[in-house]
Amino acid sequence: MVHVARVARSVTFPARVMLVGAMNPCPCGFHGDARRPCHCPPPLVDRYQRRLSGPLRDRFDLGVEVQGVPWSDISGDPVRETSAVVRARVHDARRRQLDRQGRLNSELDGRALRAHAPLDRPSHALMATAVTRLGLSVRGVTRVLRVARTIADLADDVKLRADHVAEALQFRVPERT
Ligand SMILES: [Zn+2]
Repeated sequence: MVHVARVARSVTFPARVMLVGAMNPCPCGFHGDARRPCHCPPPLVDRYQRRLSGPLRDRFDLGVEVQGVPWSDISGDPVRETSAVVRARVHDARRRQLDRQGRLNSELDGRALRAHAPLDRPSHALMATAVTRLGLSVRGVTRVLRVARTIADLADDVKLRADHVAEALQFRVPERT
């Protein structure tokens, strides 16, 4: 909830949202693109990417870099897996979360995560390395573990394993591309 208090009165707004955002990697949009060169000067690319601050990046659960789609993919076979199939898989994963812990993974705090997503030895070692090398904050660690637990649920794996954690680390929004 967001409470806005003014002299005359205060108002409360609901604030439980799913925020989805997209941005270009640079002003021209082709930085890092394999098919077209980017002509933006490096300082301009850096300044452009700094518009999304570290603390804001840290609050996104999932970050995905998307390349342009080549013509062969556009003109080829239609999508093999339909949205209905994906929807059923997501529905099952949510039901597993509610059955296990009475709430969704996105609502687990650090203590609940330790109970419902305990780290085995390899996962523990992987997270220790990630915290050191990537400079993960406490908030960042919590987010990675929630995503890892969700990846395990989507695969119907009861136990959290290092490969789930490794996949979750791939979804972090990078500081800079
Ligand atoms: Zn560019």
